[in-house]
Amino acid sequence: MPDPNGFLRYDRRLPARRPVPVRISDWREVYPPAGEELIREQATRCMDCGIPFCHDGCPLGNRIPDWNDLVRTGNWDAAVESLHATNNFPEFTGRLCPAPCEAACVLGLGGQQPVTIKQVEVEIADAAVARDGLRPRPALTPTGRSVAVVGSGPAGLAAAQQLARAGHTVTVYERDDAIGGLLRYGIPDFKLEKQHIDKRLAQLTAEGVRFRTGVHVGVDVTAEQMRAEHDAVLLACGALQGRDTPETPGRELRGVHQAMSHLVAANRVVAAAGDGRPALAALPDGTPIDAAGKHVVIIGGGDTAADCLGVAHRQGAAGVHQLDLYPQPPTERDAARDPWPTWPWLLRNYPAHEEGGERVFAVAVQEFVDDGTGQVRAVRIAEVTVEKVDGRRIVTPLPGSEREIPADLVLLAIGFEGTEEQPLLAQFGVTRNGRGAVDARGDWQAADGVFVAGDMHRGASLIVWAIAEGRAAAAAIHTYLGGVGELPAPVDPARQPLAAR
Ligand SMILES: Cc1cc2nc3c(=O)[nH]c(=O)nc-3n(C[C@H](O)[C@H](O)[C@H](O)COP(=O)(O)OP(=O)(O)OC[C@H]3O[C@@H](n4cnc5c(N)ncnc54)[C@H](O)[C@@H]3O)c2cc1C
Ligand code: SF4
Repeated sequence: MPDPNGFLRYDRRLPARRPVPVRISDWREVYPPAGEELIREQATRCMDCGIPFCHDGCPLGNRIPDWNDLVRTGNWDAAVESLHATNNFPEFTGRLCPAPCEAACVLGLGGQQPVTIKQVEVEIADAAVARDGLRPRPALTPTGRSVAVVGSGPAGLAAAQQLARAGHTVTVYERDDAIGGLLRYGIPDFKLEKQHIDKRLAQLTAEGVRFRTGVHVGVDVTAEQMRAEHDAVLLACGALQGRDTPETPGRELRGVHQAMSHLVAANRVVAAAGDGRPALAALPDGTPIDAAGKHVVIIGGGDTAADCLGVAHRQGAAGVHQLDLYPQPPTERDAARDPWPTWPWLLRNYPAHEEGGERVFAVAVQEFVDDGTGQVRAVRIAEVTVEKVDGRRIVTPLPGSEREIPADLVLLAIGFEGTEEQPLLAQFGVTRNGRGAVDARGDWQAADGVFVAGDMHRGASLIVWAIAEGRAAAAAIHTYLGGVGELPAPVDPARQPLAAR
């Protein structure tokens, strides 16, 4: 029986982040592990609601009140079991998820702060590693059926683990030189140290999953060959087509880059150097991504922009501006616009924001300004208003509001336009829809025997959705292959996040 008064006795508390001057001098994670006492106290705040709305906020349907109570009572083994029953990789979501479950927590009603669900989750996940080093659970009986998974992000890996544990022979194909998708080279180490991916890969390998890196499906191996070798194929290729701004004057200047060019390159340098390396060297191909000593302007307001900000500070930028088209969001939920338990539009302060830099809201870039040699020296911005007319975004500059911000390095973090146009699509007989995503039927098939999941199906989204879709697509593939029993399917292809309208 949970403590019904826990939330009255304890306020919401998170472990202190590492001090800014210390953490920006290395690449290690921002949060140190929380002590057991703090986590048990925070888990005690959970009321074990009769109708736990946190479940509805989480696409995985994590059994949040169950594991909160198991942590409260110090029953860590059972908590580990309960968490892994719905989530293959809680060490990723516990570190990285924006936690729609917390936005939906019943404590958020009536002015209380929600339970620190995500922090409890990451502590359970780390306890699993500490206890048995992520013990492999190989299937007892092979089915003799073979599945190819294309793409090794969280969607592909979750599906691979589910299918391998069900007895299928699974091969994951990845065009990159390392497994992990955006977790590996998109998301910086200060949010997710790569040792966490490596530990899971060791577990998946011991469970029989085969990994083939450096294989660009559709180029190095054709769809026809894949279909001949495997009984089913899952496409989990992500939504990596970066949005650009070709119409903005000066876009072609040196020093103006897609955010991902910067992040992937920075992550590769850190990976090559090992943990804790203090500074970046230039890349072998000469890509000028290093922010050291530069005035950096980041365009965009989301996860990608915040990651660029943290990287720029760790590289030793002279100064950073982050520009957002939209006005500054409120700091409190606007109940008329986003009633509980939906995801609220709020000013989100990532740890990277307390490390420095200036955020400028309601502005749009009018021009990237040339220094006379083809290198950017500034961005010219104008204050703007943004309105939606017939679903279209109309951006109107305010006359006389233009000004320049110095810039040696400009990073475009303005979103993604769906999955990339690449040979694999036509070869498998699938197409991108108007949003650049690949539609799936109710059974996750995009073409006969070809399934799709994660960002490739949903459009650029979240890790928790990628894992949920990977699990659900695996369940559909298991049924398609005539597997015994059913695998868990937390979402269907039409499932959307909680919304008021
Ligand atoms: C910078 C950044 C930061 C983010 N931060 C967060 C965060 O903090 N929290 C959060 O929840 N979400 C975050 N996200 C979103 C999250 O990373 C994605 O939603 C998630 O990784 C999608 O998983 P996926 O498996 O669908 O695809 P991906 O992770 O994109 O993996 C797709 C993989 O497919 C491979 N591939 C593509 N085509 C082929 C081919 N033809 N052959 C072989 N391999 C191929 C790619 O190389 C890639 O490795 C972030 C995204 C970005 C860009
Ligand atoms: S909604 Fe909040 S208080 Fe209720 S069960 Fe979920 S985490 Fe606990």
